Amino acid sequence: MTTTYDATLGLYIAGEWLSGGGRDTQDVRNPATGAGQAALPLATAADLDAALDAAQRGFVLWRGTAPEARAAVLQKTARLLRERADRIAAIATLEQGKIQAEAKGEVAFAAALLDFHAGEAQRIYGRVLQRPMGTRSLVLHQPVGPVAAFCAWNFPIMNVVRKIAPALAAGCSIIIKPSEETAGSAVEVMRCFQDAGLPGDVAQCVFGVPDMVSRRLLASPVTRKLSFTGSVPVGKHLMKLAADTMMKTTMELGGHGPVLVFDDCDLEKTLDLLVAHKFRNAGQVCIAPTRFHVQEGIYDRFAAGFAERTKAVKMGDGMAADSQMGPMANPRRPEAMEALVEDARGAGARVLAGGTRGSEGGFFFTPTVLADVPLTARAMNEEPFGPVALLHSFASVDDAIAEANRLPFGLAAYCFTENGRRQNMLGDAIEAGMIGINSVRLSAPDSPFGGVKDSGHGSEDGPEGVAAHLVTKSVHMV
Ligand code: NAD
Repeated sequence: MTTTYDATLGLYIAGEWLSGGGRDTQDVRNPATGAGQAALPLATAADLDAALDAAQRGFVLWRGTAPEARAAVLQKTARLLRERADRIAAIATLEQGKIQAEAKGEVAFAAALLDFHAGEAQRIYGRVLQRPMGTRSLVLHQPVGPVAAFCAWNFPIMNVVRKIAPALAAGCSIIIKPSEETAGSAVEVMRCFQDAGLPGDVAQCVFGVPDMVSRRLLASPVTRKLSFTGSVPVGKHLMKLAADTMMKTTMELGGHGPVLVFDDCDLEKTLDLLVAHKFRNAGQVCIAPTRFHVQEGIYDRFAAGFAERTKAVKMGDGMAADSQMGPMANPRRPEAMEALVEDARGAGARVLAGGTRGSEGGFFFTPTVLADVPLTARAMNEEPFGPVALLHSFASVDDAIAEANRLPFGLAAYCFTENGRRQNMLGDAIEAGMIGINSVRLSAPDSPFGGVKDSGHGSEDGPEGVAAHLVTKSVHMV
């Protein structure tokens, strides 16, 4: 089993890798052991100003670059990611914890996103409006300008690509601040862009004290768009900062995925799908299925089947070939799980599986199933973001829909039923940006990804993700 964290960390500004120079540093830790494994340099105010200057120059250069040349860089970056997949996936597991199969899948998805955006870069069209002979009105879509992007640690490769690819496809430059806790994966992605020939000023990657970095980047008149993936409170805070310069925003925030399981579903198949999906990335997925509302007639069988499958999930170091679920990404998560489980238990929930920290050291929390969780329990209202499944029963379809729409979140929702009329009705009635009907696959490069209500606004991926980096202009000529 490889245990070497083979990443050389640095800031990437104006085509240069920067480290040392008296900058403060932060340890990148291995979640399976808790041990520090590399020192990450943190940006100074002067570094951020240099990144802003570069992004301004990079924007002028890149918006004037032919779409097919932009596409070629994106395609070459995809090729390099695929060639380096094993190494990058090992770095991701060693700093984030997810199992190797998931880390490799993440690299493959990131490469597919780049290929898709290479195509989209060449499909940005405007319109010519019908006007009297000899006159014209045009509708143009132009790149919005330099983007400031901030993204979380849960998909340390894909989250970075999901920010950079649409910006570059649209003709924008970008400054990205990935999570400091998973810096090595982001650095490897940046090296792929660099080696693919992306001009140095077009994309900068910085790390630092998050609040200091976001305040400086968002206060600058250079920045014309904010794109954020992370928690609802931080998202709301950043939007307030962005309001001062009226910049465009894309907010991909948290969720609390309801799963409505009706008594006419294929129960065994549903359980197989849901248990595998629940514990992916130790539950640290914004579209994770979270609260399972099960129709009364099958509730007991569903709970027993869920608990039995959960107990069989093998937890261990993500680098070990037989692990099915790794540790959580940082020490905050098992602490949060412990508090939510204790609260639910106190409110009357039954622990059918797990419910404790792992005994392995590191940041492990056991795959957990809680049954009969009251709607008033904290976990039923706050995003757990961890390997905790919450079970609750319902009687009627109307009750189920009301429960799905009860919380201020609206990211992902799932429904399991063989009734076609009901499938259509649920797809219409549930307030969520993405809905899976007998399916847990909500994400694909060509499909818009994003939420409604407190889960944010604006889509990533699909043509919508590129459109979110464009501004519209009409030109009238007589
Ligand atoms: P957090 O909100 O403190 O951090 C989330 C991310 O935002 C981190 O990468 C962090 O570097 C960044 N961040 C935090 N403050 C920032 C600021 N002022 N300016 C710029 N960036 C900032 O929370 P956490 O403890 O790391 O994660 C827990 C919560 O985050 C979860 O409950 C979940 O809701 C949410 N989360 C959501 C997603 C998602 O995909 N939507 C991903 C990861 C975490």
